Amino acid sequence: MKKKSISIFGATGSVGSSTLNLLRQRKDEFDVVAMTCNSNIDLLLELSKEFNPKAIAVADENLYLDLKKRVDKNIECFAGSEGLREISCYSSDIVIASIVGLAGLESLLDSVKNTSVIAIANKECIVAAGPLVVSQAKKHNCQIIPIDSEHNAIFQILDGKSIKDVEKIYLTASGGPFYKFSHSQLKKVTPAQAVKHPVWSMGKKISVDSATLMNKGLEIIEAHHLFGLDNNRIEVIVHRQSIIHGLALMKNGALLGYFGKPSMLNPIDHALAWPLCKDNNIDPITIEDLNNLTVESVSDDDYRSLFLSRFAIEKGGFYPVYLSASNEIAVNAFLKNKIMFLDIIRVVEKVIDEIGHSGNKSLETMASLQEIIMADGEARIKASEIIKLGF
Ligand code: NAD
Ligand code: MG
Repeated sequence: MKKKSISIFGATGSVGSSTLNLLRQRKDEFDVVAMTCNSNIDLLLELSKEFNPKAIAVADENLYLDLKKRVDKNIECFAGSEGLREISCYSSDIVIASIVGLAGLESLLDSVKNTSVIAIANKECIVAAGPLVVSQAKKHNCQIIPIDSEHNAIFQILDGKSIKDVEKIYLTASGGPFYKFSHSQLKKVTPAQAVKHPVWSMGKKISVDSATLMNKGLEIIEAHHLFGLDNNRIEVIVHRQSIIHGLALMKNGALLGYFGKPSMLNPIDHALAWPLCKDNNIDPITIEDLNNLTVESVSDDDYRSLFLSRFAIEKGGFYPVYLSASNEIAVNAFLKNKIMFLDIIRVVEKVIDEIGHSGNKSLETMASLQEIIMADGEARIKASEIIKLGF
């Protein structure tokens, strides 16, 4: 059997590491073409020795010389955002888009031209630039497979079905580490507590997003762009056990569901094997896992993050860009102890309020990459100002 070639953007992160764990079990099926990281070049070099890619890149340009000096001479070496774009020019059968944040957008849009399948974890890019990414993928005949677990679940449920036959989908939320915390408890939570998710092991940014439920807000927008569903056809439910990943209520009254262990290995492996379904060594779900599953409905009024995300969909234009960019800045500030946990969503709301009205133009055509980057920059500056000057 011919080996598939694969590139991993964000190889040193949580999703990148899960992907590489699966590739270790499928060494006879995949050749790694390229890998990238932000700044962890020690790990990138270790992975390069193990997987022998054609090229690697580090986003932090200051680390280029060090990387170049230490890497095997057969491996091409790049740096900076241009370096990531160089990596996207290496053609491969499948690309794993697992950079966190909008920093992954340019390489994602380039990758769409040079690969047949993109397995996308990077939700910030879909939130901010969904229509552009989806239309470019269509144009270049590139299949997008979401590996965010809920969206991968819906993708698998919908296989061969028309979205017209779906009444609504349900995205499950674990509720995060602060589920049912009171306002006064939330006032005092620390970054260390926020990144400690009760069920999932993930990167810091998405862990904080899970705690504010902004992760689910971003996922509503992600589902809106990926599946072409309106706000009112995407519902969020709290499901503490994280065994049900997605549900689709069909027009004929049937409720179709996807069940799996709370692990990114399943959605990533699905994308690696797609369109086939292959044996693997992943711990399978058992009937006992289905005991005592609970689901609870969620009101947008309970979570400002959900309200703001739905508001961003309704307003359209650059609102999703403002939401995601200001959230990135606010989460970063929280992780650096510059703002409190409850300030995160306050920053997002203030940015949306202040530049939403002045800067948002209703888009008659799809936003271009340059326009998205400008809107993103504007929101980041505004969020940083709000954090610096106080509320
Ligand atoms: P992470 O922080 O563990 O890893 C992020 C990766 O991106 C790292 O390799 C890092 O080096 C790279 N990176 C960070 N900043 C960069 C920059 N400015 N330029 C280039 N590269 C940069 O994050 P993660 O948890 O693996 O999440 C990655 C993406 O996948 C996020 O968008 C997240 O929302 C999404 N996602 C993650 C999970 C999960 O279980 N971890 C689940 C669903 C979706
Ligand atoms: Mg998810």
